[in-house]
Amino acid sequence: MPTSPAAPKDIPSVDRLLRRPELADLLAQHGHQLLAAQARRLLEDCRQRALRGDLDRADLSPAVLAAALTEAVTQRLASRLRRVFNLTGTVIHTNLGRALLADAALEPLLELMSAPNNLEYRLADGGRGDRDELVESLLCELTGAQAATVVNNNAAAVLLTIAALARGAEVIVSRGELVEIGGAFRMPDVMASAGATLVEVGTTNRTHPHDYQRAISPRTALIMKVHTSNYAVQGFASAVDEAPLAAIAHAAGLPLASDLGSGSLVDLAQWGLPREPLPQEKIAAGCDVVSFSGDKLLGGPQAGLIVGSREAIERIRRFPMKRALRMSKLPLAVLEATLRLYLRPERLTRDLPTLRLLTRPAADIHAQAERLLVSVAASLAPRYRVRVMPMLGQIGSGSLPVDRLPSAGLAIEPVGRQGVGRALDALSAALRDLPRPVISRIAEDRLLLDLRCLDGGTEETQFLAQLPALAERLA
Ligand SMILES: *Cc1c(COP(=O)(O)O)cnc(C)c1O
Repeated sequence: MPTSPAAPKDIPSVDRLLRRPELADLLAQHGHQLLAAQARRLLEDCRQRALRGDLDRADLSPAVLAAALTEAVTQRLASRLRRVFNLTGTVIHTNLGRALLADAALEPLLELMSAPNNLEYRLADGGRGDRDELVESLLCELTGAQAATVVNNNAAAVLLTIAALARGAEVIVSRGELVEIGGAFRMPDVMASAGATLVEVGTTNRTHPHDYQRAISPRTALIMKVHTSNYAVQGFASAVDEAPLAAIAHAAGLPLASDLGSGSLVDLAQWGLPREPLPQEKIAAGCDVVSFSGDKLLGGPQAGLIVGSREAIERIRRFPMKRALRMSKLPLAVLEATLRLYLRPERLTRDLPTLRLLTRPAADIHAQAERLLVSVAASLAPRYRVRVMPMLGQIGSGSLPVDRLPSAGLAIEPVGRQGVGRALDALSAALRDLPRPVISRIAEDRLLLDLRCLDGGTEETQFLAQLPALAERLA
């Protein structure tokens, strides 16, 4: 209860508040419009509290109001998009922005984007260029394809491919590949949005060459393969690979498209990682169109990369929907720089953050966990107990869903058996509330901090620097 309650009539007007000398600096810095808007909200909040009998005269002192307004303005101007620590163990985390971009791809951006550039202009002859040309030769060189085009994301690439090649006609897809990628992206729905008719063949677990052959009719325009990114069919299962399927399609005069989802331009097996299909293999197998994401294993910006035969890519590029799905110059510049890193594959695990994190040896991560243990334990004592634990992470974004990445980190348990769930939720919330939020995961009555994505050096230092603030929040 207020000791000296304030009434609505005690609340100053916006104008009077903004004329206070305490606010002169803030006003000079940000101008009248922002301050007036925030002051209106603040004073309205005071009015509501006064009506509830919940406002003290002291709350209306110029110093208190000025401090509240400064805080409100700072909050309003703060970026909603914030850096976080991804300690979930999932390297390419869709909710946390997917692939981390390479320094080499980001450093030239400010200069490139603050001046006019040759996005669609041919410097050689002064003619109008095509923005696809910035990346087409790189994509062709890296995948062996004849031609390439790019759009906003791989979902758009799939939609555009189907619409351009099979609108008003039939597309044959195996029942084992009618995937839902996440959100509203389900193959049958995409097919309908693109104006094509889906013809399902085979069964959930087994599809054979003759299933495709029998389904081909004069209405067929496309045969499509979809990589089952986020699940695996095991046991009595079989699918028809791209090479035999390309032969079937081409014998009937049809194109074959393959949606790889993640797709990796380099073989991950060379680093002991599970293998994802490569676009170059699918091109070599005879696919007319192969599509994959820019921000999954490729380690670049959000983009949908489409490579394939000159004829198919030309039809896709000329289809009107392409204009609505085209990439903007900012991610396109990042994509071009990221693809250039692939020209020097021996350096990739250093140059590309996604690959650097994926190839971190578990022993390194374990040593890092040992290094952090004492400080983290000290800031969580006496309510929580911390220990180093081997963990299993994952690549994420639907790549290799059943494979796990051996990792390590800190496992945190509440001391005492009562209210374990609540204690873990409180800790997880305190971690998210830090100046740079820490995103963890809870499993089997423990909060896990998987350290695979915490780079040594500045990242680790920043993480440690927040521990006092964490202790404060838990006090
Ligand atoms: C992820 C994925 C997509 C969608 O790609 P985005 O780049 O996220 O739009 C499409 N198909 C498959 C098989 C995928 O794994």
